[in-house]
Amino acid sequence: MHFLNPDNIARLGNSLFWSHIVVHFDEIALKGGNRQPFTYRLWKNITLALTPFAPKFDKFHDRLVIVPASPDHISPILTATAQLFGVAYTIPIKRLELSIEAMSQAGVKLYKTLAKPNDSFRVTVKRVHKKFPMTSTEIQQQIGHDLQQATHAPVDLHQPDITLFFRMYKDYVYLEGPRCLGPGGLPVGTAGSVLTLFSGGIDSPAAAWLIMRRGCITHFVHFHVFSNAESVRETKIPALIRKVLNPHRLTAKLFLVPYHPFSFECLKTHIPERLELAFFRRFMMRTADALAEREKLSALITGDNLSQVASQTIENLTALEGTFTRPVFRPLLTYNKPEIIQLTKRIDTYEQSTTPYKDCCSLVTKHPHTKPKQEKVLEAESSLDTKKMTEQALDETVIWTIE
Ligand code: ATP
Ligand code: MG
Repeated sequence: MHFLNPDNIARLGNSLFWSHIVVHFDEIALKGGNRQPFTYRLWKNITLALTPFAPKFDKFHDRLVIVPASPDHISPILTATAQLFGVAYTIPIKRLELSIEAMSQAGVKLYKTLAKPNDSFRVTVKRVHKKFPMTSTEIQQQIGHDLQQATHAPVDLHQPDITLFFRMYKDYVYLEGPRCLGPGGLPVGTAGSVLTLFSGGIDSPAAAWLIMRRGCITHFVHFHVFSNAESVRETKIPALIRKVLNPHRLTAKLFLVPYHPFSFECLKTHIPERLELAFFRRFMMRTADALAEREKLSALITGDNLSQVASQTIENLTALEGTFTRPVFRPLLTYNKPEIIQLTKRIDTYEQSTTPYKDCCSLVTKHPHTKPKQEKVLEAESSLDTKKMTEQALDETVIWTIE
């Protein structure tokens, strides 16, 4: 099968060639009788993502047919739909009249659009309507012969570089283009709403993307060191969130929580320095949990990755217990760093994530305990007024809408 990923969709070249696009669903296909809310949501999400192109939707059953308003929209529509969760792949289609001549001509044109020098090909014909007076094999042989005459390209029935796939109906034929791979998963909005703790590092945008791919809508909370939330405006934080939301044309809330209620309280009280990071992470979780409660968001999401940094040992993750009342999901927990980097390059957040930023964690102790005992953490934390810290942080939280 000839697959294109979103990066080389542009290779499709002459967009005038295609008449419409078929979207194939991913896991929705496994949903049996429960399928309808998922397909309806995906159709809504596709409609929203394609707003600038205002296409028509021809048929909506097990797959969705998009009819672009202009041939120039084919490539941008393929790119836009190939980023949507729930899409397994999309295929551009050319509708042809029912004749061998039209099929051969279109086949030659498609081969020439896609092929590198000496690429092999095969022709596959499926007759959905059986009345055509030749068998599938005879049609394949005839088109294959015409194509060889026109291009001198080699035939390879087993591992062709390019497959020319024709689907024959009663009055017309569909020639399928290469498949454009989507991200799969489930449509955003089918799994409830959550809150992502967003640091602006490499991991948190990836965590947000992964939880959205399982169907969640996410909002964001960021803890910042500035005296005024307005200072976050020109940083990478809103820009990165936009990168995650934009393909879906979604909006989300961003809660900006100041760090200083925590740092003032720590300054006032003598606390063991090596536990400061554990306290700070407990402060973040407690505050995020209270925000989620207020906003009716059903889970917290973090970019934690087991043992990547000192604060992510099993002991330090355990030391967060008791600060939240809802589930905490960590989509990246078991990823290897190269896998995370590969993902962030695919979703185009990597470069921005690696630009310098004054992160709260960098102000907290440089040498945290890697194996703190939970009892010790709780005992030492009892000298801090954690309730006051959280209340003050919530009072001073600023909410933006990111779109
Ligand atoms: P990232 O690359 O996302 O910054 P990291 O590897 O640097 O992650 P930590 O700094 O320990 O790891 O953060 C782990 C997770 O805690 C982050 O992925 C994020 O979910 C949350 N977090 C850390 N700092 C902040 C912050 N300032 N605001 C909101 N969430 C944060
Ligand atoms: Mg970080």
